[in-house]
Amino acid sequence: MAQFRTLAIHAGQQPDPVWGAVITPIVQTSTFAFEAPGKPREFDYSRSGNPTRQALESCLAALEGGTRGFAFATGMAAETTVLMLFAPGDEILVQSDLYGGTYRLLTSIFAPRGVRPRFVDLRDSAITAAAINNCTRGIWIESPTNPLMNLVDLGEISAIARKNGLITICDNTFLSPYFQRPLEFDIDIVVHSTTKYINGHSDVVGGALIVSSADLAERVAYLQNALGTCAAPQDCFLVLRGIRTLALRMEEHNRNALAIARWLERHPAVESVLHPGLESHPQYELGRKQMTGYGGTFSFWVRGGREAALRALSRCRLFILAESLGGVESLIEHPRTMTHASVPVEILDRMGICESLIRLSVGIEDSSDLIEDLTHALGA
Ligand SMILES: *Cc1c(COP(=O)(O)O)cnc(C)c1O
Repeated sequence: MAQFRTLAIHAGQQPDPVWGAVITPIVQTSTFAFEAPGKPREFDYSRSGNPTRQALESCLAALEGGTRGFAFATGMAAETTVLMLFAPGDEILVQSDLYGGTYRLLTSIFAPRGVRPRFVDLRDSAITAAAINNCTRGIWIESPTNPLMNLVDLGEISAIARKNGLITICDNTFLSPYFQRPLEFDIDIVVHSTTKYINGHSDVVGGALIVSSADLAERVAYLQNALGTCAAPQDCFLVLRGIRTLALRMEEHNRNALAIARWLERHPAVESVLHPGLESHPQYELGRKQMTGYGGTFSFWVRGGREAALRALSRCRLFILAESLGGVESLIEHPRTMTHASVPVEILDRMGICESLIRLSVGIEDSSDLIEDLTHALGA
């Protein structure tokens, strides 16, 4: 099979059969003409399937090494769809250190309807195995976690799940398939917010699921059509355009972020840097085992608490104060009051998402300009 960089440009993207257009066209239609009564062509209605979406979905499946890919309107639409695989009474093991929107979806939308999250430390496989009971049906993994950059051992957790007949889901948004392919560690379903690195240009919100088996492909296809959570053709076109440079962008994000993390680690205003590519990260070895790079997102604690953090955030000129991550431009944010504001304060305190935590999404600008900006922001 072709290598990643080749698949990113060619998988699912044959020249258009009608005009020979080299770039997959935006097939902006809701419905498709039938050949005869009861005889649809390949597509009949764009909620059920659309050629632009299909090109993106095939490409995503190839990049993650899955059986089939699915594109959704947002990352949350992808998550909502995959959670519909579960029924009232089911329990899902999940770590509490996770994307704020996923936390909110599980606790305030699904839990009251009977699909309950049980929060465990998935870094510890003994604790994880002990948390499984008669109602447990799935394990939801995010690795690295957002914003604390903890890692979960994908192979270890999937082995526990396999033994107990549980579905494993891994949110791979932070690394993209370029740096981590969970299906190779026997995970069942990969989730993406394609809004982030996969599209990479901060001009689309989108989501994806990539599944390992034909059985899951059939169940997710049914849900995507029945729920109507799919992505629109224009957005699929843009995400597919972003994917063509995914490998190149990820290399640059990785290089810049690692250089900045090393620089911050030596800065007197910084208490500690959370980046799995630093030898000081407690799970550095695990990272080397299951990831081939680290992407551009990481966090650090500044000295001086809330005041120092807010001062640094407001003094940045190049880093833009904004939520989201994974775009070519650098962003800075305060998880406690921004991306993770929907998580209860007691849980934020317990996890270490305190007032002095800052998260960076390092873009692909020149790293010396980024370091100069942070030098000014952190002050003397
Ligand atoms: C952004 C994000 C999501 C949600 O995706 P949207 O496209 O914003 O709906 C889910 N998981 C992670 C890790 C994210 O960063």
